[in-house]
Amino acid sequence: MPELPEVEITARRIGAALEGARVESVQAPGINALKTYDPPLSELEGATVLGLRRRGKHLIVDFDDELSLLVHLMSAGRLQLYDKRAGPRDRTSRLLVRLEDGRELRLREFGSRQRAWVKLLRTDELDDDEALADLGPEAWPDPPPFEELLGSPRPLHSLLRDQHVITGIGRSWVDEILHAAQLSPFKRGDDVVPLEAERLREATVLRLGDALEHYEEVVSLPIPDKLPMPLTVHRRQGEPCPRCGATLEAVHYEDYVMSYCPACQTEGRVLKDRRLSRLLK
Ligand SMILES: [Zn+2]
Repeated sequence: MPELPEVEITARRIGAALEGARVESVQAPGINALKTYDPPLSELEGATVLGLRRRGKHLIVDFDDELSLLVHLMSAGRLQLYDKRAGPRDRTSRLLVRLEDGRELRLREFGSRQRAWVKLLRTDELDDDEALADLGPEAWPDPPPFEELLGSPRPLHSLLRDQHVITGIGRSWVDEILHAAQLSPFKRGDDVVPLEAERLREATVLRLGDALEHYEEVVSLPIPDKLPMPLTVHRRQGEPCPRCGATLEAVHYEDYVMSYCPACQTEGRVLKDRRLSRLLK
C-alpha cells in the first residue's frame, strides 16, 4: 500500500525528527529482512542520522561514516519512530534501530507474509544497487513527457505501475491517476495520443501532489499504522463516480482490485471481471 505520497510523508516526518540522533544498536529480527551482510549492522553503532529521503517507493536513511539503510516497505510495511522501546512480544518488527536518546526506529510489517526488506550499503554504492539502478524517472514532482515513457503495447494500468518505466505509483494511485486523466486502464501505451499523454502526466503530478498536501495537513508522528489515503476511486466500486455520478466498476485480480468509471474512462463499457469469468468457466 505505501506508494510515493505515503513514503514521501514518512521520509519527511521521520527525517525531521531523527536528524542528528545517534545510534546505540541495530537488530534485524525478521526472517530475511536484512538482504546484506557487508558492512555488518554493527557498523551503525555510534553513527549519526543525517536524514531520510525517498527514491521511488524506497526509503533511504543516511548516516555519517558514508552508510545508508535502504528500506522497501513492500505492501504492508511501515517505518515508525517510537519514544519507547519495543517489548520482546512485538513480532511485527523487522528492523529495530535503538537510539542513544531512548527512542527507537522500527520497520514493522502487518500481514502474514514477510516481504519488507532492508539493505545496509555504503552511501556511494546506493545508486548501483539493483533495487535502485534500473528505476525509471520519479512520477512526482516533475516527470519527463509521458510520450517518451509509454511507447509499448502494454496497457496503461500495468505500464504506470512498472517501476522501470516510472517510479512511485502502485495499485492504489494508478486507479486515481487514470480516472483523473479519463483514460481506460486497458488502453495500450502506444495508442496514447500526445494530448492524452500530456493529460496523463498532469493527472499524475496533480493527484500525487494533492495526496502529499493532504498528508502534510493530517499526518504527524507517530506515523499511524493505517494512513488516511484520500482515494476517491480505488476500491470504491458500487459508489458514484466523483466526477459524473455513474456507478464505479472494478475488475478483480488474484491479489488486487482495479477500479474505474465506465462513463469517464471506457466509453460506457463495463470491463470483464476476470475473477467472475474464471469462476463461471
Ligand atoms: Zn465518471
